[in-house]
Amino acid sequence: MDTYQLQILEKKQVTHDTYSYKVEKPGGYRFQPGQATELSLLKEGWEEEKRPFTFTSLPSDDFLEFTIKTYDDHEGVTKRLGDALPGDKVEIGDAWGAIEYKGEGVFIAGGAGITPFISIFRDLRQKNKIGNNELIFANKTNDDIILFEELKTILGHKFHNIIEKQADSAYDRGRIDKDYLKGKINDFKNQHFYICGPEGFMKAVDKALKDLGANPEALVFEQ
Ligand SMILES: Cc1cc2nc3c(=O)[nH]c(=O)nc-3n(C[C@H](O)[C@H](O)[C@H](O)COP(=O)(O)OP(=O)(O)OC[C@H]3O[C@@H](n4cnc5c(N)ncnc54)[C@H](O)[C@@H]3O)c2cc1C
Repeated sequence: MDTYQLQILEKKQVTHDTYSYKVEKPGGYRFQPGQATELSLLKEGWEEEKRPFTFTSLPSDDFLEFTIKTYDDHEGVTKRLGDALPGDKVEIGDAWGAIEYKGEGVFIAGGAGITPFISIFRDLRQKNKIGNNELIFANKTNDDIILFEELKTILGHKFHNIIEKQADSAYDRGRIDKDYLKGKINDFKNQHFYICGPEGFMKAVDKALKDLGANPEALVFEQ
């Protein structure tokens, strides 16, 4: 497998614990929206600690972008990335398939599980093909919603938020279960379902969708 050592060009805060990193793009580097790569931070002692992250830029951009949620509660790669600055270097490998757009449907994301869908939605918007795609995005609080404004602009009323742990949230409240999905979705048979999030979220949504007659495309993001 090829590896590429690349400089971080820009770092922006996206939510209280999530940053986007604009990174140099190697000449000829290719990926598809939804794909990921193994990334490590080139700081002493961390070079071999590779973790999977999804490209959130477009294949046609002349840079790469990652959108990464940091976990400050333990000494891991994401905590280090939270401290990283432009000029620091990362190493990535080739792109590998995680989730792929196969046609219109319902995207269901939990937390940082939104990242493969960001790239897919940006790509569809660029091609003017957002169509009837819908997004259900589950988070703990309103402040955890990654790229709310951009997703709202792309999807309009087809963007549904559900919030678990904020009593005064104006969005739907609670967790995604069978009843919630039945209230949001009319057709379980003739469209695609794309799901991505932490393991427990994935299991629950996958089961609810199957019980309702759907055939979901699943990607587990273990955090
Ligand atoms: C295909 C794929 C694509 C992904 N894309 C993205 C993305 O684009 N953006 C994104 O934000 N995330 C993404 N993820 C999730 C991301 O890979 C993880 O968040 C990341 O690997 C966590 O790395 P970490 O080193 O910070 O923590 P870990 O690898 O979880 O932990 C590092 C070390 O700390 C220990 N540890 C773990 N939890 C604790 C704890 N609570 N207290 C003490 N020690 C602990 C572990 O045992 C381990 O030794 C993706 C995952 C997959 C599978």
